[in-house]
Amino acid sequence: MSVLWVLGAGQLGAMLKQAGTPLGIDVRPVDIESTDTLALQPTDIVTAEREEWPETVATKQLATHNNFVNLSTFPQLADRLTQKQWLDRLELATAPWFPVEADSTATTAHKTLGERVLLKRRRGGYDGKGQYWLKQSENIDIPEDWKGYAIAEQAINFDEEVSIVGVRGRDGETHFYPLTLNLHINGILYASISPLERLKPLQNKAEAMLSKLMDALDYVGVMAMECFRVGDDLLINELAPRVHNSGHWTQAGASVCQFENHVRAVTGLPLAVAEIKNQSMMVNLIGVDLDYQWLNIQDLELYWYKKEVRPGRKVGHLNFCSGNLELLQTALAALKLPAPYPEALDWLAQNLP
Ligand code: ATP
Ligand code: MG
Ligand code: MG
Repeated sequence: MSVLWVLGAGQLGAMLKQAGTPLGIDVRPVDIESTDTLALQPTDIVTAEREEWPETVATKQLATHNNFVNLSTFPQLADRLTQKQWLDRLELATAPWFPVEADSTATTAHKTLGERVLLKRRRGGYDGKGQYWLKQSENIDIPEDWKGYAIAEQAINFDEEVSIVGVRGRDGETHFYPLTLNLHINGILYASISPLERLKPLQNKAEAMLSKLMDALDYVGVMAMECFRVGDDLLINELAPRVHNSGHWTQAGASVCQFENHVRAVTGLPLAVAEIKNQSMMVNLIGVDLDYQWLNIQDLELYWYKKEVRPGRKVGHLNFCSGNLELLQTALAALKLPAPYPEALDWLAQNLP
């Protein structure tokens, strides 16, 4: 059996490996800083847990392999400029935007996009890093070192943030998980909840949008689409050509999780129409220490990434899945976590049916 190599050895790689185990697939995440000579065989397959990477000994070996799935798609989506151009070409709605060039000024930004404008670095941003707010009232100019390296986006006064995770096979077959409602605080995902009856009317629209994109890119594997919901409309915020944090709940709440569906897709195995088990929620563990007392909470599943705990750093997540909504409320009440968690847990409690 051939090996599935993963470019990157963070938590997503670890969870892909975990998902490959029952399938008998040898999934090998590779640290991009590794200087090992990889025993890559011609029939092996390569995927990635990140959309962009520096050229290193490890990434050079992987990126020159013939079976690197979606290789040409990564640079196109990793750069926010080309990602937005793709979305515009496909007439998929996004926040109004323009590329920040040498001659761009805050005045023109406010004239075209309004009072609040969000600059986003074209590359490398995650968890809200690489963002810069221009507020007309504060008279802030565009920093010189952002010119040529950023896009400017209109601030969207959204009702809420949702995302959809889809999977596409080699033959173009697609499947989707239900829309997920997400809470970001300071640009970082704190909590997700899915499925929600009230989001069902948007499911077809979201699936059609993501399908159009995956088809256009002839994409194979799992892709996530983050959206702003504004009334009955969806504006695409960003795309991730990989398994995604807002799909982590599928580990507890779906018969086949996003990680397994990605492994199946890239290795050419049949995709699963995942059955949704019950109500799920996910809480990201951000900058908090591991506490095994959490395991006393019923219906809680812990994923600890074994990373050094630092403020603002994702170090694990908690999944919950139950048909008993009272149990889920009890679980939320039992979780003792520092600020801003009370806000996030309260948000989950409010959004539970
Ligand atoms: P991720 O960790 O999801 O990859 P990121 O750093 O790539 O995050 P975005 O997803 O673009 O950044 O933005 C992070 C969050 O910032 C969004 O989820 C949203 O809460 C807020 N945000 C982004 N763009 C806008 C916008 N145009 N208007 C209002 N809020 C926005
Ligand atoms: Mg992002
Ligand atoms: Mg995002």
